[in-house]
Amino acid sequence: MQGPVGIKRVLSYCGLLSGNGSLKSAYQFRLFEDFMLQRLLAEGRPLLADGATGTNLFEVGLNSGDSPEAWNFDHPDRIQALHRSFVEAGADIILTNSFGGNRRRLALHNLESHARDVNRVAAQNAREVADRAGRPVVVAGSVGPTGDLLAPLGPLTEDEAVEIFVEQIEGLREGGADVVWIETMSAAEEIRAAARAAIKVGMPFTVTASFDTAGRTMMGITPDAFANLFSSFERAPLAFGANCGVGAADLLVSIVEMTETHPGATVIAKANAGVPQWHGAHIHYSGTPELMAIYAGLAIDAGARIIGGCCGNSPKHLSAMRRALDSHKPGPRPDKQAIVAALGPLAAPAAAEPSAPRARRRGRESA
Ligand SMILES: [Zn+2]
Repeated sequence: MQGPVGIKRVLSYCGLLSGNGSLKSAYQFRLFEDFMLQRLLAEGRPLLADGATGTNLFEVGLNSGDSPEAWNFDHPDRIQALHRSFVEAGADIILTNSFGGNRRRLALHNLESHARDVNRVAAQNAREVADRAGRPVVVAGSVGPTGDLLAPLGPLTEDEAVEIFVEQIEGLREGGADVVWIETMSAAEEIRAAARAAIKVGMPFTVTASFDTAGRTMMGITPDAFANLFSSFERAPLAFGANCGVGAADLLVSIVEMTETHPGATVIAKANAGVPQWHGAHIHYSGTPELMAIYAGLAIDAGARIIGGCCGNSPKHLSAMRRALDSHKPGPRPDKQAIVAALGPLAAPAAAEPSAPRARRRGRESA
């Protein structure tokens, strides 16, 4: 059917309509939407990704056990306010509120039949904020793990996992995501499944893993082995790196390991704000904005190109990182000693000594 509705749908599909239905101005013209992150990277400056989703939503009323993804529908104002606070703090990249937006995770909240819609609306919420920023801001469609082990250790075949991720990524694309942001991964099979899904849908993608178990992922992958995974993929990620895990110092050590063996790679560092500590029923992060500013400078010197924060990072932390990136004077490439001297001891060192107590994986409802 032609007419106003048909025309609107075509314009909207082509990315020419903004969220409120008006035609976009020149800088919002997203003809090259798939290349948004590539264009920003080509400018050569370090890019700032956003801070935490989950821990910041807890501050505005999300309860432990609630689905953060349901808030895309129930509280779009709060989701957009969080995105906006990161844009105002200087983020070049904002992540959609869709970390647990796959059918398997949504089933915990009886939302599995709405996976595609959840992701579409999550991307729309971020898109509207990005399009009003007045400068290019990348909408990265967050894709977290299914929460299930893949065969032969668990119930999901890799092909089933691909289909689950395809459904999520199609929703993210429909809502206007520029790039698929695969994060907090720990298993090689699941990383490959998510990457295959992005390739199948025709979206550019990035991948970060969580090295939370004595310098390895929970499934035993070292940072170097993780960086080597991608050579066998049909298409390479735009960038790869580390997010979440334990402390910011631990994360930087894993970044150094990746950039050591892959010096030309575009690497992402998205660390927690220090080390998570339980205070009664509350989780508290030890890292101040000042500490995260030091982390951001070290991350550049370690070779990271995209720097941001994971759990515990508020907009205040992000503002401090923005200032650190903008005023950074190149320093020597840090080694483990320099990182520990600047940020404090590793929370889960790779040596044979027992790991420090840390937040349980199941406790992480969102990145
Ligand atoms: Zn995190």
